[in-house]
Amino acid sequence: SEAQAGLYSAVDQVLVLDADSVSRIFNASSAFMVEFYATWCGHCSAFAPVWKNLASDVSEWKPAVDMAALDCADENNRRVCTGFGITGYPSIKFFPAYSGEDFTGESLREFPRDVRGLRRLIIDKLESHKEPSPPACPPLEPASAAEIDGFFENNNVQHLALVFEENNSYVGREVILDLLQYENITVRRVLSSEKDLVSRLGVTDFPSCYLYYTPTNYSRLPVLSEARAFYSYALQRLPSVVRAGRPYPAINDLQRNQTEEPWREFNRTRVYMSDLESALHYSLRVELSAHSTISGDALTALRHYVSVLTKYFPGRPAVKGALKAVGNWLQDQKETQISYSDFRTALDSTVLSGEGVLPAGVRWVGCQGSRPQFRGYPCAVWTLFHVLTVEANASGSTDPLEILQAMREYVSSFFGCRPCASHFASMAQDVSDDVTTPSTAVWWLWSRHNRVNSRLAGEPSEDPHFPKIQWPPPELCPKCHGLMLGGEHTWNKDEVIAFLRNYFSSERILPDYLQ
Ligand code: FAD
Repeated sequence: SEAQAGLYSAVDQVLVLDADSVSRIFNASSAFMVEFYATWCGHCSAFAPVWKNLASDVSEWKPAVDMAALDCADENNRRVCTGFGITGYPSIKFFPAYSGEDFTGESLREFPRDVRGLRRLIIDKLESHKEPSPPACPPLEPASAAEIDGFFENNNVQHLALVFEENNSYVGREVILDLLQYENITVRRVLSSEKDLVSRLGVTDFPSCYLYYTPTNYSRLPVLSEARAFYSYALQRLPSVVRAGRPYPAINDLQRNQTEEPWREFNRTRVYMSDLESALHYSLRVELSAHSTISGDALTALRHYVSVLTKYFPGRPAVKGALKAVGNWLQDQKETQISYSDFRTALDSTVLSGEGVLPAGVRWVGCQGSRPQFRGYPCAVWTLFHVLTVEANASGSTDPLEILQAMREYVSSFFGCRPCASHFASMAQDVSDDVTTPSTAVWWLWSRHNRVNSRLAGEPSEDPHFPKIQWPPPELCPKCHGLMLGGEHTWNKDEVIAFLRNYFSSERILPDYLQ
């Protein structure tokens, strides 16, 4: 597709500009950081991962500053690039909010080539932004004792978070921007030189974060590490702190009216067999039934999918029996095309032969949504494939790509959410380069799932009761989280793999609510 032609695609949080859409950076209520690149330029392809990572790192800042890229190698964009005075690649320009159409942007020469350096550059640009500044950009300057004292009189928010830090630290401003889309909380930075406040609260560590509930009631924010990622995560998850414009997730949302299914209590840190069986039912009996005949790549996809299910689905004997029977039936089919109704007959014939049965109907447990349009099947698809990668790993499979390829093919041929399928296809392009061992397959699927989570956070499809986070959060797996020198958050790869292998292992799957 067109968006894939350059170095960026729809799965990145970078706005892909062209000659027609470039006007979006003018008269916008947010500032823009725009990269001008050429697809053929080696430095540009080397820099693209940094620009993508930066865009996802600052995705919460979008209302104040957005990230874009424009491919000057595309002939249709030539005149635009000439107009901006671009002569070398990659070039980065800053466009303040409300820039007029005649403005060619402020060139950022000698810009840093790493996420942290670029993120700081963005903050510097926002701090020196002339009026009118982006309306969504909160105050970034240090707060004084007087301001803090008058805060609750002048503001109607429930929480005030103070990040105490040294003058040259960026953590406070990063957290302020990370929270800009959230209501009911204000974040300010306080410098270590603000002696009054420092001694009043007894602050000894810089950085550290304190939370005021009332003008006189405050406490230190408990976090795994004193760093941006942990402060932002903890503050975004405070009770009554919600994304602007989203309904407050009230607990009684979960008590349905009588025509809806009753809410099933469940443990949010466990995997439920009922979700996995429901996913199988939905995929084999509903999703596939949209295809009256199946041939070619789709038939190959179906064969691979059923093959990994028969090998690795850690189900009840009856379900495994049904999968095995349909797997055998598929193997016997020598024609280049099958009909769905024959497939379905084979799947359900096992009821009579006593070989086993896949329960009919869906019963979501860990994948329940607070509303019928949320969660359910896609949640269970992710869960199913995480379980399969872990199971393949545990059973000593020697082909690291077996599950991921089956998933890629299934999603591409059958997954009903077509935009999801094309996003997943572009994320999975280089899977065979990245995945060389069964444990990296587990890691790979986890990391792609987190990329999707990052892209979907705050979207209307997000269930407010199940916000999209970078998973697992610190409280679920403290050891998974680490800090690099300089305070950047990092995932401890071995710990994450160990965590996933336990979390999705067959022994831990709960049988509650099975039909
Ligand atoms: P899900 O993201 O479905 O996750 C289910 C459960 O898995 C979570 O509750 C959590 O316990 C666990 N989990 C969360 N993150 C991870 C992780 N990184 N590793 C392991 N386990 C984790 N929706 C769109 O709107 N646009 C898309 O482009 C899109 N693409 C998709 C592609 C695929 C292949 C799939 C299967 C789904 C896609 N979806 C997409 C749907 C979306 O990802 C969610 O599945 C859906 O919004 C339901 O979200 P959820 O809150 O139930 O959590």
